[in-house]
Order: sequence, then C-alpha cells, then structure tokens
Amino acid sequence: MAIQTVGIVGAGQMGSGIAHVFALAGYDVLLNDVNADSLSKGLDTIRRNLERQASRGKITEAERDAALARIRTTLTLAELGPTDLVIEAATERETVKQAIFDALLPHLKPETILTSNTSSISITRLASRTDRPEKFMGFHFMNPVPVMQLVELIRGIATDQPTYDALLEVVGRLGKTAASAEDFPAFIVNRILVPMINEAVYTLYEGVGNVRSIDEALKLGANHPMGPLELADFIGLDTCLAIMNVLYDGLADSKYRPCPLLTKYVEAGWLGRKTQRGFYDYRGETPVPTR
Ligand code: NAD
Repeated sequence: MAIQTVGIVGAGQMGSGIAHVFALAGYDVLLNDVNADSLSKGLDTIRRNLERQASRGKITEAERDAALARIRTTLTLAELGPTDLVIEAATERETVKQAIFDALLPHLKPETILTSNTSSISITRLASRTDRPEKFMGFHFMNPVPVMQLVELIRGIATDQPTYDALLEVVGRLGKTAASAEDFPAFIVNRILVPMINEAVYTLYEGVGNVRSIDEALKLGANHPMGPLELADFIGLDTCLAIMNVLYDGLADSKYRPCPLLTKYVEAGWLGRKTQRGFYDYRGETPVPTR
C-alpha cells in the first residue's frame, strides 16, 4: 500500500518535528492533540523551523510554503481514521497511549499502519492490545527531528514483513537512515547512550573527576561532540533516570542501577537545561558546573 496521508497524535516537541519532516517530504499530514494550545505552539515551531531552513538556503521558499500547506491540525482524533499511517507521539505514559489507541481503532481503515514514537514502552505490549499487532511498529525519531539523521525501526513480536518494508521506504523518502532494533528496553541508542551517561554520573559521584574534567575528557579523549554531563542536561535528568529505571526493571540486571547522585539531582528539581540547572547552572551568561 502506498502511504500518502499521515496522522500524528501529539503536537509536542516530537510530534511537531515529525509533522515538519513528513510535510517537507511531500506527505499530507494531519496533526492531532488534546490541547489547542499545544497544536498552535506546535504549528508555530514548524513555521519557525521551516523559515530558518529557507533563510539558510537549505530549502526553497516554495518548498517551505508547500510543506506548510500540507499540514492540517485537528482536536478530533477520529479524523485520523482515513490516514494510511498513524504515528503516536503523545506523552510518555502507557495509559495515555493505550487510551489513544482504544479511541482511534474504531475509526481506522483496516490497512492503516499504526506506530508509536515511544522511547521506552514495549512495542509488543502496546501492539497486543490493538486489533492489528502485525501492522504495529515502533517508529523512534530522535530529537530534534528535522536535524537528526537516524530513525529506529522496532518490530514487535507479531510485526509482519510488509509493514517493516513500508516503514523502511518511508524513512528513505524522508531522507533519513533507519536502524533496526528488536523490541527490548530502550532499543539501541538509549540502551548504549544512557548507561554511558549514568557511568559519567558515577565517575562524578565517586570523585574520579569533576563536571568539567569528565566532559573535557570525553570530548577530547573520545572525540564526542558533547560531554556526557552536558548531554544529560540537554536530554533532561528526569528522562535519563526514567530510562535507567526502564533498563533496570526490564532487564533485571544490577549493572543498570541508576546512580544515587542522578536521583538526587532529579529530587532537587535540577533537571538540566529545561529547569536552568543540572550538572551545569544555566542562569548566568555562561554555564557554570555545579560540582
Ligand atoms: P511533549 O510533552 O513535548 O508532547 C506530548 C504532547 O502530547 C503534548 O502536546 C500533549 O498535549 C499531547 N497529548 C497528551 N495526551 C494526548 C492525547 N490523549 N491525545 C493527543 N495528544 C495528547 O513530549 P515529547 O518530548 O514530544 O514526547 C512525545 C513522545 O516521543 C514520547 O513517547 C517520548 O518518549 C517520545 N520521544 C521523545 C524524545 C525526546 O527527546 N523528547 C525522543 C524520542 C522519542
């Protein structure tokens, strides 16, 4: 089945970025959210980012205008019924995603492929509660979506080959690159990246280095573009902790235990850039290490 119309549920950071790249690639996008404010903010972000791409010569003004014209928004989930592909990118809570699928399924064409952008919830479990586990997949975009090249494709245990092939083709049309991951906690990128960040926090906790020396060491000694603590602040320390807990619970291996210092920062509400304080303090002109 050729995919042309795409329904996106959730117009937050990820949903708006996903709508942006699909519209630019020529798909007709229907963007849904429960919150009218999120929809208008999402659309503003898309407009601003397309504008920036056009002003830098990455896309033409005609491409910018055509992409914007391909995005429609709706507060009514049922309107996504006739789309060929649905990407759920709502809040990372299983009950929320479950309720969205329950409400959407009665309106959906039988051939529509259903996907979730979840970072941590089991694709197999989400799929098992729908009427189409063979047409259900994890479709994991990276943040910020218009910039990051990778998309993880995650098969549930029941996902069939035509569904996988259809999504692989979509990733190609978006100009991005797919990595296939099996459905185990945190998939590939977060399975490797977040324990590395957690280890950097242990290195800090045990006094092996301070914030600056740990970040400098990984940037200059391992050629990482950002230090692990700087990166943790960017991702959000609450998100890093949640992913460590998913790995710890899902794989039942003590090597994934979250560092107590990471927990303490989260308890303090020092969540990184979004709260202006994490491993660095962002309230002044330049970030200042907090340890
Ligand atoms: P966000 O908080 O920015 O956006 C979530 C949006 O979902 C909000 O606008 C909210 O109003 C909307 N929403 C909540 N309930 C809804 C419902 N019932 N119907 C429709 N919309 C609803 O979150 P985000 O960072 O965009 O994350 C969305 C998803 O993407 C999560 O599953 C997350 O794990 C995943 N993800 C996030 C990142 C990241 O770096 N932020 C990266 C990859 C994947």
